[in-house]
Amino acid sequence: MVVLNGAKDCTEMKNWKSELKSGLKEKSDLESFFQVDFPQLDFKTLIPLALANKIKNAGPDSVLWKQFLPSENEKSSEGLKDPIGDEKYNRAPQLIHRYFNRALFLPTSVCPVYCRYCFRKNELGTKKLFTPDFEKTKKYLQHHPEIEELIFSGGDPFILTTDKIDFYLSNFKNLKYIRFHTRTPIILPSRFDQELLDTLKKHRENFDQISIAIHTNHIDEIDLEVEDTIKKLGSLGITLLSQTVLLKGINDDPQTLKDLFLKLSSLNIKPYYLHHPDQVKGGMHFYLPLRRGREIYLKLRDILPGWAIPQYVIESPKGGGKVPAFNPESLDFSGKLIGKSGEISFY
Ligand SMILES: *Cc1c(COP(=O)(O)O)cnc(C)c1O
Ligand code: SF4
Repeated sequence: MVVLNGAKDCTEMKNWKSELKSGLKEKSDLESFFQVDFPQLDFKTLIPLALANKIKNAGPDSVLWKQFLPSENEKSSEGLKDPIGDEKYNRAPQLIHRYFNRALFLPTSVCPVYCRYCFRKNELGTKKLFTPDFEKTKKYLQHHPEIEELIFSGGDPFILTTDKIDFYLSNFKNLKYIRFHTRTPIILPSRFDQELLDTLKKHRENFDQISIAIHTNHIDEIDLEVEDTIKKLGSLGITLLSQTVLLKGINDDPQTLKDLFLKLSSLNIKPYYLHHPDQVKGGMHFYLPLRRGREIYLKLRDILPGWAIPQYVIESPKGGGKVPAFNPESLDFSGKLIGKSGEISFY
């Protein structure tokens, strides 16, 4: 197969577009590259070649393999197709406005990789949340001056071309804050080429803050190439935050999380969110009970300084938004979760 023969060259070329284009998508590509049988699934798969090589080196028991390669477990019918239920806040095209002063902007449903535990895994193929009508989106923002921050999410916003990112940032100049939620610095560090860095630098002074919340779940995801990219972003005056999903079999013990959060802190990334996993159909093998998460978080508060500890949050279903998941006042970790307005959301 042509793709495989060219694998090494592509990795060395480090051109992000060609890395993505030649990424592994089909069951047959995966099987010949990894020399393992994979199940036939309806969920999308994509592994950029440089990442595929890292996964292959790490092997089948690694956290890289388990997070990104398809597994039989995804056939389970347990879980919800849309565990978040944020559609009702989809108030303008590609916009989710749930909180008063900030909104999510979803310019794409494409990612540089498809994480097997993703809460949007049943939606990413569909158009519902992602159909563009930029004039309408802009009008909505004009009529809602209370929105001070736009959070680029998706999909993964850094999958967009640099021209497109430049276009959006130019159009959002009257906002105060810009944020990106992304897994790209980990998955495809070559994406942060000089052209993109220059564009971010150019726009930096138009806003009070540009921040990038990097989605990373384990210290093994952070190699020297990733570190190098993170340092470049930091040097532009961009605020670096992290988001981590608590996942069974990946990072569900205090020591693993401690190693990750201290590593992030050493790279000037503020650990920001630790998300309790969502009960998503096809991803339930990564799910763990809230009680277990609370026990882990309690231990973390013992072994880490406050500045290295993210907020532990859970999405309350039916669009309730993120609420604190930890029950500090209660010794009973199986205690109920209290929603924003005081009502009990679920156990
Ligand atoms: C998480 C989220 C935000 C961002 O919330 P912060 O507390 O600022 O991190 C904004 N809008 C929606 C819909 C979200 O889910
Ligand atoms: S990068 Fe984020 S949106 Fe994309 S598949 Fe992974 S978790 Fe889902």
